Amino acid sequence: MIEKRVPLSGEQLEEIAKIYPTPFHLYDEKAIRENARAFYKIFSWIKGFKNHFAVKACPNPAILTILLDEKMGVDCSSLPELLLSDKVGFRGEEIVLTSNDTPPEEFAAAARLGAVINLDDLAHIETLERSAGIPETISFRYNPGEARTGNVLIGLPQEAKYGITRDQVVEAYRVMKDKGVKHFGLHTMVASNELESSYFVETARMLFELAAKIKRESGVCIELINMGGGIGIPYRPDDQAVDLKYISEEMEKLYNEIIVPENLHPLRIVFECGRLITGPYGYLVSRVRHVASKYKMYVGLDSCMANLMRPGLYGAYHHITVPGKEELPHDQVYDVTGSLCENNDKFAIDRKLPLIEAGDLVVIHDTGAHGYSMGFNYNGKLRSAELLLREDGSVQLIRRAETIDDYFATMRFPGSPVKV
Ligand SMILES: *Cc1c(COP(=O)(O)O)cnc(C)c1O
Repeated sequence: MIEKRVPLSGEQLEEIAKIYPTPFHLYDEKAIRENARAFYKIFSWIKGFKNHFAVKACPNPAILTILLDEKMGVDCSSLPELLLSDKVGFRGEEIVLTSNDTPPEEFAAAARLGAVINLDDLAHIETLERSAGIPETISFRYNPGEARTGNVLIGLPQEAKYGITRDQVVEAYRVMKDKGVKHFGLHTMVASNELESSYFVETARMLFELAAKIKRESGVCIELINMGGGIGIPYRPDDQAVDLKYISEEMEKLYNEIIVPENLHPLRIVFECGRLITGPYGYLVSRVRHVASKYKMYVGLDSCMANLMRPGLYGAYHHITVPGKEELPHDQVYDVTGSLCENNDKFAIDRKLPLIEAGDLVVIHDTGAHGYSMGFNYNGKLRSAELLLREDGSVQLIRRAETIDDYFATMRFPGSPVKV
């Protein structure tokens, strides 16, 4: 059982809420740094090991600055994410562009920044060539199709829109070699929030064997293997965390079995984890507006799906604690709801919790990745602030809450002067 703790007491959270009204996401810098260092240490046998943090998981410059300081790179999925990474200070091959259905201006910006471009499809080669020319380094995203099973979040590989197929892969590298590419990477991402450690060992085996096949059949030497992201985190207290040490040790064995005899050593291996890096170290702090007794008991919060979409979107579990009431008997059963006019706007269904009253603070755990960033303005809801709990215990505003002015900022009313 994992103990789901909040790094601050109820009184401390109340003090913060006096300055920054709820709801807000709070991130724990110390925990993020300690986790990053532990992750790097486990994979230190890999020369040039890096995690390219998936910016979409937590696109905040303060968080990205911490990760840059911890020697991470970034994985970007769009032009704004590329520009954000550049502004934070990521340079050259610290940046990877793994996008979908990529427009020319994204390729152009990635090339200008010297990022590693990870192509999702053969049709993208022409777009890349037209918009940015052929870079010295190129990577392809591989989709193994029926050779692997995916999981519920990402679906079956053969049903997924991502990546090039097994039949296309050797030819893809041959084409790029003929076009003058000098350095080659190979990427895959076949699961999301996966907790089974052996899954990632099998992914390494698949990529190592494929690198060997590519070399034999096209003469192209893969120099960079990108294992993608998708390492899960224990959202439920009784979930078992992924065993990174086991994954690392098994990967090293496979490296010595497959990569070394094929003369592909030294080969750099990287990950693109987002969730694993920040997920457990973020908290959505919210306040109870009403406790409603209907056919069921409802706890209505001042946040909603716009602040955390995962429960409504995927039925995902997020642990909930009530600061100051942790030790009370959890003998009540509630649906914990948001204020959206959508019946799936529920953070928890039939959750056992202590007796809750209006005005209580409620903490929703594990919101550090794919939390704030999935937010939206449906129902006229405004996105919350993001706060950082610094290592010295101070709290810093790292993104202000949206205001009504932000809501109106993009609107053009009939009769108002046309601005382009
Ligand atoms: C979303 C995404 C990631 C990060 O996924 P996590 O589950 O946060 O680790 C990495 N790579 C790509 C290509 C992605 O789309």
